[in-house]
Amino acid sequence: MKKIAITGGKGGVGKSMVATSLAVEFANNYKTMLVDADAECPNDHLLLSIKRKKYTTVYQPIPKWDFVKCTKCGKCASICKQNAIIFAKDKYPAFVRDACIGCKACIAVCPTGAITETKKEIGTIYTGKNYNVNLVSSELKLGELASGEVVAEVRKYSDKINEKMKADIMVIDSAPGIGCPVIASLVGTDYIVAVTEPTPSALFDLKRVLYLANHFGTKHGILINKFDLAENFYKKIEKFAKKNHIPILGRIPYRKDFISSTIKMKPVIKINPKYKELFENIINKIKVELR
Ligand code: SF4
Ligand code: SF4
Repeated sequence: MKKIAITGGKGGVGKSMVATSLAVEFANNYKTMLVDADAECPNDHLLLSIKRKKYTTVYQPIPKWDFVKCTKCGKCASICKQNAIIFAKDKYPAFVRDACIGCKACIAVCPTGAITETKKEIGTIYTGKNYNVNLVSSELKLGELASGEVVAEVRKYSDKINEKMKADIMVIDSAPGIGCPVIASLVGTDYIVAVTEPTPSALFDLKRVLYLANHFGTKHGILINKFDLAENFYKKIEKFAKKNHIPILGRIPYRKDFISSTIKMKPVIKINPKYKELFENIINKIKVELR
């Protein structure tokens, strides 16, 4: 099985549109799984009109205090980089549950064993299917911070589900940015499709996300969405790609069909079949790159 991550840095460049369109097109010839790893704002199920079913809950470890054993030394508060433990001299430590990321450093440092481990719910994993695409979708619980943890879990669960499913292709739709959730989306993938658009901010963010791709040593290519919006910047992206020997996988025009696709919750190739060839060509280029 090949794992292909769809990323790009800047939000709103069309990663989910590309991920769902490629998944639908791949599904014509291959058993395909689509992993929605944008845990903070998952919407692949909406783009594919999938009513998701809950698969499992994602938990994060958090500390629990036994104040009988606590000597009020304050070491747990000193070690916590998240400032999730507040300590005042001669008082028991106070825990700010929402700020905790579950690193367990406080548990390790407590000299009296007053801190043990419990857990809190931080997200949900869902599954669903439409257009022959098997979706595994992650969703961070509102107000929680650890989206990287939820993405790491959806990656684990998608591998587990795939043990039975035996998909040929796994398309992973990553979150925007270059932080923990994106790193958790890109790790262990065979190819990275970096989606961008012809704007200065998109090019800036593209360079940052490609730095990550290089760090992981993962093969990658650039896909320019809305390429005809700004010729100046479109040429700058092409120049950047040429200079850095990065293949351009395709150019997607800015058309109303893509807006209709989002509103009607249907893949663009089902709205207007003329885009089928466009996504087929992108897949063919990815296949050549994967050889
Ligand atoms: S490190 Fe342990 S003993 Fe010290 S204040 Fe924290 S809980 Fe209490
Ligand atoms: S588990 Fe880590 S983040 Fe949470 S309170 Fe302990 S030291 Fe702080």
